[in-house]
Amino acid sequence: MTILQDFTLPELTEYLTANYSVKPYVAKQIFGWLNKSVDFDGMTNISKPLRQQLAENAVAVAARIVQTRVSVDGTQKFLFELSDKNVVEGVLMKYKYGNTLCVSSQVGCRMGCKFCASTLEGLVRNLTAGEILSQVLSVNALGDGSNRYVTNIVLMGSGEPLDNFDNVVKFLRLVTSKDGINISERNISLSTCGIVPKMRFLADMGFSLNLTLSLHNADNAERQAIMPVTNAYSVEEAISACRYYFEKTGRRVIIEYTLIDHQNDTRAHALKLASLLRGMSAHVNVIALNPVKETGLKGTSESNVKKFIQHLTDLGISATRRRTMGQDIEGACGQLRRRYLNDKHD
Ligand code: SAH
Repeated sequence: MTILQDFTLPELTEYLTANYSVKPYVAKQIFGWLNKSVDFDGMTNISKPLRQQLAENAVAVAARIVQTRVSVDGTQKFLFELSDKNVVEGVLMKYKYGNTLCVSSQVGCRMGCKFCASTLEGLVRNLTAGEILSQVLSVNALGDGSNRYVTNIVLMGSGEPLDNFDNVVKFLRLVTSKDGINISERNISLSTCGIVPKMRFLADMGFSLNLTLSLHNADNAERQAIMPVTNAYSVEEAISACRYYFEKTGRRVIIEYTLIDHQNDTRAHALKLASLLRGMSAHVNVIALNPVKETGLKGTSESNVKKFIQHLTDLGISATRRRTMGQDIEGACGQLRRRYLNDKHD
């Protein structure tokens, strides 16, 4: 099956002209429907025979919302079903300035971080560009259409975006396109566990995206124990790639630091982190671990989270706590998908 949301407008026009002898203005109408996440049966200005033919060979809505949970704080968690019945999740967080959607880039993940639910069963497959885009389009279509419902995007759902580099780059091109929903690059963040060559490559491509490094420990040996990617790329190499990213793009890099009880949350850890980041244009986002039952790890207590941030601030490092949202709806990476799959097995 061809995923139509994988295409730019010129690509879709070429595909439809070549395979269905469709006129360019009809291709444009179909492109409009795809951007509104409307399936073939809702494309009312397109002829029925064409829609039937298309439905046999192509997919209009690549990531369909099959489950929604709403948290007491307004956060919404979505489960998207792909055309091969795999599921991925996304989270919509509402802020004063707009709505941020967290999307997935892979089904599962092969990075093996010890605290993360997405990677427990390894990588199933990469998402295509259109499958990542479709998560945004499906949620955006929940708005009233008067303006954009999704204003910001973070690539922080399941998967490692830089391990699916080409599809993620194509997604960025599609979602920022003037023909499409035209989200500004500055409103998009990409989070990585630290795949250094790809971070540098991204810097060279000239996007003005925000880059986030999931660091979680400034010490190589300790980080290796929770994030195997450290075996391939050291903490210093990852930080050096962040500095390079800032030099090339002028975008301040965010360091993500998830506090795990008794593992990375002491004053000594804060000191090591501060000296690593010294002189760098970076901000540390601190969050307490969202416990995932399979991992047996615990989040740092409320008072120790505050202490850790205070240590960093005292050392001259810009740090704030990221609000933990949607705790009551299994907001942490991969948890809702696991619950859904477990329920299906029962
Ligand atoms: N692979 C990318 C993006 C997906 S993970 C990355 O590593 O950045 C998004 C963020 O959620 C990362 O910072 C990750 O370390 C963090 N994360 C994963 N599981 C978590 C959990 N149980 N509690 C808190 N943060 C978690």
